[in-house]
Amino acid sequence: MEEPTEGASLVSGPDGKKRRVSYFYEPTIGDYYYGQGHPMKPHRIRMAHNLIVHYGLHRRMEVNRPFPAGPSDIRRFHTDEYVEFLASVSPESSGDPSFSRHLKRFNVGEDCPVFDGLFGFCQASAGGSIGAAVKLNRGDADIAVNWAGGLHHAKKSEASGFCYVNDIVLGILELLKVHRRVLYVDIDVHHGDGVEEAFYTTDRVMTVSFHKFGDFFPGTGHIKDVGAGQGKFYALNVPLNDGLDDESFRGLFRPIIQKVMEVYQPDAVVLQCGADSLSGDRLGCFNLSVKGHADCLRFLRSFNVPLMVLGGGGYTIRNVARCWCYETAVAVGVEPDNKLPYNEYYEYFGPDYTLHVEPCNMENLNAHKDMEKIRNTLLEQLSGLIHAPSVPFQTTPATTQVPEEPEEDMERRPKPRIWNGEDYESDHDEDDKPPHMANFDDHMMRQVHTFGLIESVRGWGFHIIPVPSPNKKLEKKFLHPFLQKKLSIKLFPYPP
Ligand SMILES: [Zn+2]
Repeated sequence: MEEPTEGASLVSGPDGKKRRVSYFYEPTIGDYYYGQGHPMKPHRIRMAHNLIVHYGLHRRMEVNRPFPAGPSDIRRFHTDEYVEFLASVSPESSGDPSFSRHLKRFNVGEDCPVFDGLFGFCQASAGGSIGAAVKLNRGDADIAVNWAGGLHHAKKSEASGFCYVNDIVLGILELLKVHRRVLYVDIDVHHGDGVEEAFYTTDRVMTVSFHKFGDFFPGTGHIKDVGAGQGKFYALNVPLNDGLDDESFRGLFRPIIQKVMEVYQPDAVVLQCGADSLSGDRLGCFNLSVKGHADCLRFLRSFNVPLMVLGGGGYTIRNVARCWCYETAVAVGVEPDNKLPYNEYYEYFGPDYTLHVEPCNMENLNAHKDMEKIRNTLLEQLSGLIHAPSVPFQTTPATTQVPEEPEEDMERRPKPRIWNGEDYESDHDEDDKPPHMANFDDHMMRQVHTFGLIESVRGWGFHIIPVPSPNKKLEKKFLHPFLQKKLSIKLFPYPP
């Protein structure tokens, strides 16, 4: 009965060329929980996966469960002490006075809380991105996807902006074993500071970040920050303003990336698809539609260079799931029906139950002439680049060359926060309480039993399955409106 695909069939997309897609998903990822009121919800990855499966996209790609990254894998970027801390801290131990100095030093506590299974979450996220890199390195896939990755703010020995372990840096380090030049593109609403910093002094990785700039977390990503030393001009920053729409974004993204591909000629590309740049995000301020967001993937895919696709931010979780599902479809090369198939989290997607999100009518503060200026500045900067810099193959990745600040300075430096710590006014579908708890009062439960329905709870979603009970005639009008909504999906009328 859950074969849902009527009304949600797939037809070949306009970019019909097939790609071999390898997809990484850890089935327990949605159980990790940052804490009540915290906007970062790993549950969104499970929601995206659920949509992907109900659209049948999993049949068009190879689905892998990632190996958890081990401490030694994580230490390829992060310091020993930081990794040891992450592996040992727990909600119980974090109250211990011996941990409090570490919490401060590693910036763990506010934006980046200690939660149950924290290290397991980091291992799954990083394991997916490293696994994705291995697939691309072996030539076993053209595109490798890890929606649990993209945690771009994590630093060498510091958590930041909901990120603890920088899976992207670890994935790129793995790619660099085989590929001479890796391009990193970041379309999260926040600057991709952790990745930029890691590769700021090397030309083996070029970083390009499109982000809101000006009085916004993390505060870095000025257009004049272009890299240093050997890496000078191999960092590119595109500062943007509130209300960015599809058209303005495309008008910058396509020409800049086209030029980057021409002059840098990367052997592999990593795209961070942070979905907080979508319209209506709880922390973001852009106004992109899912299609406008996915156009970045569509464009990069068209170059047919090995491509790693990662998640990132995204705090209106129903839209994050929509976006990453659609982008998975773009990766495999199909155009899914806008009508959502029935799925375990169907009630999150009301009242329209569609895949696409339309932009809102907010003002676009990115003036046409400012955009033109940014485009010209960056294109000019790119023209000055040495084409496809060659590197001796044995070069050790330069991540260790970033000069370390003295520890005292690290501790005293004010830490910007990505989130002001306030709980959000949640509509029911994104409440921290599981919806079945929030919505099922006694009256409804009685009806569930009377009419022979079984409520099946999985994670935070649930569905109602009618079971044979020939003596009871189910009439929709007698049901609680909440149940009526459920039943109108596809289960009503019952019995047939
Ligand atoms: Zn973000």
